[in-house]
Amino acid sequence: MNDITNTRKAFEFVAETYSRFPVLITRGQGIYLWDDDGKKYIDFTSGIAVCSLGHCRREIVEAVKAQAEELFHISNLYWTRPQAELAHLLCECSFAERAFFCNSGAESVEAAIKLARKFGHDTRGPDCFDIVCLEGSFHGRTLATITATGQPVYQRGFEPLPDGFTHVPPNDIRALELAAGKRTAAILMEPILGEGGVRPLDKGFVSAARRIASELGALLIFDEVQVGMGRTGTLFCYEQTGVDPDVMCLAKALGNGLPIGAMLARKEVMEHLGPGTHASTFGGNPISCAAAIEVMRILTKTDVLEQVRKKGEYLRERLDGLSARFGVIKDIRGMGLIQAVEFDREFPGLATYLLERGFLTIVAHGRLLRLLPPFVIENEHMDLLVEALEGFLNEQAT
Ligand SMILES: *Cc1c(COP(=O)(O)O)cnc(C)c1O
Repeated sequence: MNDITNTRKAFEFVAETYSRFPVLITRGQGIYLWDDDGKKYIDFTSGIAVCSLGHCRREIVEAVKAQAEELFHISNLYWTRPQAELAHLLCECSFAERAFFCNSGAESVEAAIKLARKFGHDTRGPDCFDIVCLEGSFHGRTLATITATGQPVYQRGFEPLPDGFTHVPPNDIRALELAAGKRTAAILMEPILGEGGVRPLDKGFVSAARRIASELGALLIFDEVQVGMGRTGTLFCYEQTGVDPDVMCLAKALGNGLPIGAMLARKEVMEHLGPGTHASTFGGNPISCAAAIEVMRILTKTDVLEQVRKKGEYLRERLDGLSARFGVIKDIRGMGLIQAVEFDREFPGLATYLLERGFLTIVAHGRLLRLLPPFVIENEHMDLLVEALEGFLNEQAT
C-alpha cells in the first residue's frame, strides 16, 4: 500500500475547519518540532499552551506507557486509581475540594455553566440562571461556550444561541455591578483574556467580581484553561489575583498533550451536581490522568515555576527592548510565559516569515503576536526569536 500521506493527498479528507500552514509535523522533543522534510522548528506555541513541559517529556512518556500497559479505560461506573489521585492532587494544591473530569477546555467550561445553573436553581430559584461574561473572552466552541465567549465572530451563523448569557467590558466594575443581579447564577472570566489578546484583568476588577458574586450568592468561575498549570509562573493564575474563585476550569496543559479537562469547585458547590446530573464517557480516563499526575508532580516538586517567572521576565525585557526601538509596537502584555506583542498595524506576512526561519508562533489578525513557549525554553532560544522579529521589523521599515 502506498503511503498517501507522503503525497499529501489524504489531507483532502480532513474537514477544512482550520486554516493551516502547509507544514506536516512528524516529531517533537522538548522545545523542538520537526517536519517531514527534517526541518527543525522552535515551538513558541506549545500546541497552544498544551505541551508546556516540552514535547514528549521523558517522565510523562514513561507514565503514559506504564498506564497503557495496565489499563486504558473503564467507565465511570467504577473507580480507577489515577483519577482519584489526580483529583486529590488538584484539590490539595488549590482552593478546590472536588474535581469533575472531562476531555477539553470547552467541556470544562460547559460543566461549570451547568453547575452554575444547577446551583442557582437549587439555592435561589428557577429564575437564577444568568451567567455574566466578559466582552472579548474565549471559552470554547460548543453552543453554550460560544455564547459565553464575548466575540460575535464565533457565534455568527450558529443562532439560535442558548439564553442566559450577559456580557460586560473587562475591567469595568460599574458595568459588572449593573449587569449582575438576582438572576445572576455566576460571573465567568479568564484572569487573563487569552485568545482575546492576552489581556490581564485588573486586580481591582477581579476583587470587585468576587465581592459582587458573594453578595448575590452567585458563583465566581475562573476559566484557567489557557493560563493555569504554571503558565503565568504560579501553579494557577488566580493565586496572583488575591482572590479565590468558587469554580475553576482547566484543560490544555493539564495532560501536557493528552486530552483531559477538569472542572474544580468547593465541596458545597459541587454537591449540586449529584449522581446522574452530568457525565463524560472518557472523563478522567486513566491514561490522561496518569499524564496529568506526572505534570502535577513536575510543577509542584521541581523549580519549574520559578523558571517560568525568570524566563518570562527575560522574554519581557527583550520584547520591551524591541518596543523601545520600533514605534510600530503598540504594547507588550502578559505574565510569565504567556506574552504578546501588539502592533499598530497588520503584518499579514509575519507568521510565515517566522515559520520560514524556524519559529512556530501564533499571530492573530496580523496584529498580535502571541508567545507561549514550553517552560523548558532557554534564554538563547528567546534571543533567536527576538532577532528574527527584529529582522522582520527592519525589513518592514525599509
Ligand atoms: C482553549 C480555550 C478553551 C477551549 O478549550 P478546548 O480544549 O479547545 O475546548 C476554553 N477557554 C479558554 C480560556 C481557552 O484558552
